[in-house]
Amino acid sequence: MTKISCLETFSNEFVSFVKVTAEDGATGWGQCSTYNADITALILHRQVAPHALGAGTDDILGLVQRIEEKEHKFPGSYRCRALAGLDTALWDLRGRREGKPVVELLGGKPGWIRAYASSMKRDITPEDEAARFIRLRDEQGFDAFKWRVGAECGRDVDEWPGRTEAVVPVVARALGDGIAKLVDGNSGFSPERAIAVGRLLEAEGIGHFEEPCPYWELEQTKEVTDTLDIDVTGGEQDWDLATWKRMIDMRAVDIVQPDVMYMGGIARTLIVAELAAKAGVPCTPHSANLSLVTICTMHLLGAIPNAGKYLEFSIEGEDYYPWQQDLFLGDPYAVQDGKLRIPDGPGWGVEINPDWLGRAKYQKSALEA
Ligand SMILES: [Mg+2]
Repeated sequence: MTKISCLETFSNEFVSFVKVTAEDGATGWGQCSTYNADITALILHRQVAPHALGAGTDDILGLVQRIEEKEHKFPGSYRCRALAGLDTALWDLRGRREGKPVVELLGGKPGWIRAYASSMKRDITPEDEAARFIRLRDEQGFDAFKWRVGAECGRDVDEWPGRTEAVVPVVARALGDGIAKLVDGNSGFSPERAIAVGRLLEAEGIGHFEEPCPYWELEQTKEVTDTLDIDVTGGEQDWDLATWKRMIDMRAVDIVQPDVMYMGGIARTLIVAELAAKAGVPCTPHSANLSLVTICTMHLLGAIPNAGKYLEFSIEGEDYYPWQQDLFLGDPYAVQDGKLRIPDGPGWGVEINPDWLGRAKYQKSALEA
């Protein structure tokens, strides 16, 4: 058994990359979940590293679960966000050691993967949203798009009066036939309002209604799922496996959307994907920015049997995500005909930009020699 000897983080407020080193000198790179990543890195060093250092590199799920047990007084999002850094670094290490991409370690193979162009904006007019979608359709070949309705945790109050009733038909009709259409409610609606919006979506040919109700209200979400004909989807915020079991058992949603980083990494996300597969439920993960999360999601989607129809691919640039610029060398997120290529190099198949690392805050936890 080769032991973990060192965990290093390179962080700013938005991103924290993690480097794991084994006692034989093997290394791997991963990432904690984005946002408040500097806080998450502290949790990694304080509450994850003490249990990981000296543990074996091979049993990733076993190690993650052991750390959850050791830190059982601290369940929740931050522990998972930090565990994601360890998990994804260990998958990369294993891939580099075996000379295989992670997608192959998971039983799949690299190749092209269809993406949906995902808008993060609500402060955009229906006309402007339609115009940029048409441009992306024509220039990059996307054939699937997601846009926003309601308001985030909006309690039935729209971003501005009438926006939902306008943005649904304006964007849907501009895109026309032959394009998959998805919308996201971001926990914005009561069941009554969600069902009314859902009828509008059905009439305009939208096939995916994401997070219609407050995500923690599974019975509300189920009511919408049971009533509407189109797919109701959700789960991006959820990390607790008990909640995931309940959500899937009760069929609260038609499609599950775990986020690899919010979940605590690949090993725990695979548990959700398997629970869903056993229930006949597709898995279309959440991956809302172009840090490492979308790369990890590409490898996952290339391997799981119940992969949904597409990868979530954020279309936002420097104005919305200034912090996601220049994270990697080359262009791992190049789009061709609406598809992306799962990297075929060892591990995640990407190289983190050394200039970015050089500017980041550095912290290290290591076994004492
Ligand atoms: Mg969403």
